[in-house]
Amino acid sequence: MKLTIHGAARQVTGSMHLLEVNRYKILVDCGLDYEKDRSTQANEDFPFNPTDIDVVILTHAHIDHSGNLPTLIRMGFDGQILCTPPTAELTELLLMDSVSIFMHKAEKRRKHSRGGKHHSRPQPLYLQKHVMDTMERMVTIGFNKPFRLNGDVELTFIPVGHLLGAAAVILKVKDDNEEKTIGFTGDIGRYNYPVLNDPQPLPPVDYLVTESTYGGRFHSKDQTIEQVLVDTIEKACIKESGRLIIPAFSIGRTQALVYSLNKIFSSGLLPPVKVFVDSPLANISTNVFRKYHELLNDEAQDFYKAKGDEFEFENLTYIENLKDSRQISNYFEPCIIISSAGMLEGGRIQDHLYNNIQNYYCTILFIGYCSKGTLGYRLLRGDPIVHIKDREMAVYATIKKTDLFSAHGDHQDLVNTVKQQSPDRLKRVFLVHGEVESMQALADALQNEGYEVTLPDKGVDYLL
Ligand SMILES: [Zn+2]
Repeated sequence: MKLTIHGAARQVTGSMHLLEVNRYKILVDCGLDYEKDRSTQANEDFPFNPTDIDVVILTHAHIDHSGNLPTLIRMGFDGQILCTPPTAELTELLLMDSVSIFMHKAEKRRKHSRGGKHHSRPQPLYLQKHVMDTMERMVTIGFNKPFRLNGDVELTFIPVGHLLGAAAVILKVKDDNEEKTIGFTGDIGRYNYPVLNDPQPLPPVDYLVTESTYGGRFHSKDQTIEQVLVDTIEKACIKESGRLIIPAFSIGRTQALVYSLNKIFSSGLLPPVKVFVDSPLANISTNVFRKYHELLNDEAQDFYKAKGDEFEFENLTYIENLKDSRQISNYFEPCIIISSAGMLEGGRIQDHLYNNIQNYYCTILFIGYCSKGTLGYRLLRGDPIVHIKDREMAVYATIKKTDLFSAHGDHQDLVNTVKQQSPDRLKRVFLVHGEVESMQALADALQNEGYEVTLPDKGVDYLL
């Protein structure tokens, strides 16, 4: 069989791996590459003919794994896309959200180019109809249920935490009458993460393609999520009677946060403080979490039995329309506002920042990574003046951050995932989905444990 890493090679985004078994072509993930301009044709140049792909297997819904599927279909792929049931539902929400972002960007470009010399308008990468075509191709398979792709290949999804529905892909292959097993970890989650199950150990494999996002980096362990939230809320909303704004990605991060707050308030650790969740996408995706309740962790299931809905409590309000969102600025009691986008680029969070960044009694708690060039990055860097909605504003709000909500396992978790495999059987580990420094740190640690490790270059064929 032949493995080619076409995306997330020596970088984090754009996961796309091609495995060819007796001429049958399997594409694992088809993500957007954020290092290209995400919304335009830069993501359209596939290094293979999309019509030649027989089947796509999707590890999870995040856009850097799923976000280029509609382009693949627009360019002629006409096979099935295999994933778990929650992944299908969350992918639809995220792809539709991508289309809105593309349209918004196209509109902005149109305004900027008005009156200029250049009238060429880049088209959005794909439209709603392409997302609908993508959804029609999805075939869902539950966790730990072997599924035969053809006479030579059998697929099993193994739960890995990280995001509802996220799976590692295990392929048992008959290649020239020889049995081989290859695993793709997708993104590996953390242990003891709110709502989600711990990653399940992978079965023995001969080859492993693993993510390396947090290679060489460790999550802080001196405080729990609840302790951080209690301390921050106490200071921002109770001692100072101010506002706490938490920028959060709508899918995954918001649900983990709401559940953690529910535990805090329902156990009486803090007096009730008003909480607003202001993201339409978060509201819809929370329903997907409710629907696949049986996939949540034991703690969440026990909480449900004892106290009811994990994502609902008395002092919590989900905001639907823009009018109600704007009304939040007239709420003068202390409150917590959870809104998106997580890196503060667009979304309703921009209004909340605009109204509160110059408020001494406002705290902004970052719970996720902010990439370079985003408003979130500039605030975390400590810029005293930032641009919000075309206005220069001095930053008087207090800026805080925690890495405890990261949905990725850290260096030790990644090493442990590989160490579940015997070095006698596992012939080679391929590292993907990481910056080169992280990959190198992880490679060094794995080589010390006696594993053969490769940092694949983009587009190079590996015969296995
Ligand atoms: Zn992910």
